[in-house]
Amino acid sequence: MPKNYMIGNWKMNQSLSDIEAFFSALNLENNQNNFWISPQSIHIPKCLELGVKAGVLIGAQNCSDQDQGAFTGEISPESLMELGAHFTLIGHSERRSHYKETDAFINKKVAKAIEKGLVPVLCIGETLEQREAGQTFDVVLTQIKADLEGISLNNESELIIAYEPVWAIGTGKTATPEQAAEVHDKIRALLQELYGDVGEEVSILYGGSVKPDNVKDLLGQTNINGGLVGGASLKADSFNKLCAACSL
Ligand code: PEP
Repeated sequence: MPKNYMIGNWKMNQSLSDIEAFFSALNLENNQNNFWISPQSIHIPKCLELGVKAGVLIGAQNCSDQDQGAFTGEISPESLMELGAHFTLIGHSERRSHYKETDAFINKKVAKAIEKGLVPVLCIGETLEQREAGQTFDVVLTQIKADLEGISLNNESELIIAYEPVWAIGTGKTATPEQAAEVHDKIRALLQELYGDVGEEVSILYGGSVKPDNVKDLLGQTNINGGLVGGASLKADSFNKLCAACSL
C-alpha cells in the first residue's frame, strides 16, 4: 500500500512569528514521518529547528538542476541536504506559469534532486481550458512521461507525485473525489508501466483547495494517497485536522 502524506506548501507566506505560533500549536497524532511542510527557503533553518521537535519533515518549494556555481538566486540541492531538508516540490503550476518552467527543465531538476537524496514532489495538472477541451488525461500523462524521462527508481520513497488541477489551486474550487480519482487511476497505471512493482507503491497526492471539510472524501479514493495543501496548511488548527484525516 502506498504511504499517505499530508504536505503543506506555504508558498511566499508566514512571518517568523507565524511560524513559531504554527509549530507551538501543532498536535500530530499517528505521526509516521508523513507530515511535511515546505516554507519559503529562507525559513527552512527555523522550520527545521521547530519542525524536528514537532515531528514534521521540512523541504523546499523549488531547487536548482545544478550542483553549485554561478546561478544567482537559485537554491542548491546540496545546500538543502546540508541543512537537513528532506524533499523539494518541483514543477508546481506557479513555477510553470509565472517562471515558464518547461517539462525538460523540470526533468533535470527531478533527476538532480534524486541524485542528491532529496525526495522530489513532482506537481502536474491541467488548466481549465485543457479540461474543458477533454485533454486532461493526455496533458497529465504527457507531463509525467516528460518529467520522468530517463529517471529510474530504486524504491517508492524516492518520488512523490502531486496531481494538482490548475483550476483548483487557490480558487476554492476542489475537484470532486470522482474527478480526482479518475486522473489518479490513470497516473497509477502509468507509474506501473514505467516502474513495475515500485510504481504501485509511489504515493500520488491530490492538491487543489483541500480543506478539513473535503479531505476525507478525497482520501477515501483508492489511488489518492494524501494531499498537497496551500491555504489550509497555514494554520496549525487546520493542518492538525488534515493530518488526522490522513491517518484514518
Ligand atoms: C498548492 O499550492 O499546491 C495548493 C494546492 O494550494 P491550495 O490548497 O491553496 O489550493
